[in-house]
Amino acid sequence: MTVQKFIYENAGLVNEHKLDDKESICGLCNTKVEKTISSKKIFSGNFTNYEYFKNDRLCEHCVNLIKNSKSEDMRRSSFICSKNGNDYFKNSELYKKLFQEKKVPFTFCVTYSFKKLNSFRAVLNYSNEEFYIRQEDNLILFNVNECKEIFQLMLNLYFSNFTKSEILSAEYNKVSIQKFGIENFLKIENKLKNYRGKDYFELLTVALPAELRKTKKEEKDAANKNRNRSS
Ligand SMILES: [Zn+2]
Repeated sequence: MTVQKFIYENAGLVNEHKLDDKESICGLCNTKVEKTISSKKIFSGNFTNYEYFKNDRLCEHCVNLIKNSKSEDMRRSSFICSKNGNDYFKNSELYKKLFQEKKVPFTFCVTYSFKKLNSFRAVLNYSNEEFYIRQEDNLILFNVNECKEIFQLMLNLYFSNFTKSEILSAEYNKVSIQKFGIENFLKIENKLKNYRGKDYFELLTVALPAELRKTKKEEKDAANKNRNRSS
């Protein structure tokens, strides 16, 4: 089964196009089908991803992934598609979705722009240990064990006043480093720098949970207050 058919069926899409009785190989999924439609009727002026298409005919599944009232949801949200249907999620929940067990097979799509199409170029995954994430123009290979370690290092910094953009760019605030302790900071940063620039590195910084950071900070402040009170 093609990934396009998998998403079409499991996301519950219904055909919204009139296809011609023109037998062809679909220019996207490579399947020979009896009914196709010209992609020229479908692509808008904003469409730029022509490199995915080998010819200008599209099958029912592919055309609806690109243009369909429901495919709009997949454009505006990150989601995981499996036999359980589409699980749409906010990027604030991304860290949970990355590391939790998913029903195989599945596709994992993440949007940063909330307007670029992911579904038609997604990849079907059969493993929870290492899988592909379609993030708009990037296809990210995500190794769970490796990324868990990196994410833990990031969390240590992120829960101690460092920001996502500092972790992503390595342009750290000096005062924050001193507060954190230079030795501890270097222990973490010397490991992180080996991965900076990888596509999954940026993905992991996007996944850093802002809400948990707030809670951790409040807990810390409360603990400091108590300490000051008792001393
Ligand atoms: Zn197709």
